[in-house]
Amino acid sequence: MKLLGSLLDAVFVLRCVGCDVPLATARGATAEALAFCDLCAATCNEPEPGCLVCGQELASILGGVSRGPCGACLATPPPYRRARWGYEYGGAVQDAIKRLKFGGREDVAGPLARAAFRLAEVGDGWDAIVPVPLHWWRLARRGFNQATALSHALRAVTRAPVETGWLRRKRATVAQSTLPEPRRDANVRGAFEVPRRDRVRGKAVLLVDDVVTTSATTTECARVLRRAGAASVDVWSVARTLA
Ligand SMILES: [Zn+2]
Ligand SMILES: [Zn+2]
Repeated sequence: MKLLGSLLDAVFVLRCVGCDVPLATARGATAEALAFCDLCAATCNEPEPGCLVCGQELASILGGVSRGPCGACLATPPPYRRARWGYEYGGAVQDAIKRLKFGGREDVAGPLARAAFRLAEVGDGWDAIVPVPLHWWRLARRGFNQATALSHALRAVTRAPVETGWLRRKRATVAQSTLPEPRRDANVRGAFEVPRRDRVRGKAVLLVDDVVTTSATTTECARVLRRAGAASVDVWSVARTLA
């Protein structure tokens, strides 16, 4: 019975997505309490309310008083309707994402996605959730696409199907984080395609990624989806690195 008990523990005990300690959860616990222990939660930073379109903080520009589009979004409206994320990248959020991507811990995706989604206020009413695709060889090497794992975790919350075939990565790109900012747009330009425009036409899409660094990749994906006829694209990520 002891063995059975520890087996059941291994399967059913929720563990912190940041550090793996078992979580003491009470009924009615928040999504965040079901993902992070108290110590890890203390290192998680939620973004300040920002630009209604790109989500970037307005505080430095407008003193944080107004809620509207930022100057950059007014000058050049992005192809997406709004971009939101649950956390600033860092602390236990960074640990959780690394465990998901490189530690073979796909089980982290569910609680992490649900906690970050609750904080992000990205909207609703989507026809499909579309993960940012990996190039096939990176997918083969890692074994799974972390954005797809996060997307599946949102299915129950959004009641929208996950469509991994709507967007395809045509060519491998250098990791955006290794490039200086001015080269990041060129790195991803032309890297994505919509294989079947008839599936995408008229649809409201939620585009999902794990971490947004500059928005070059998600902006390019949104552009390609809109060009294929998508009615709208919203962007959601677990985290965003601060400029
Ligand atoms: Zn923890
Ligand atoms: Zn903006």
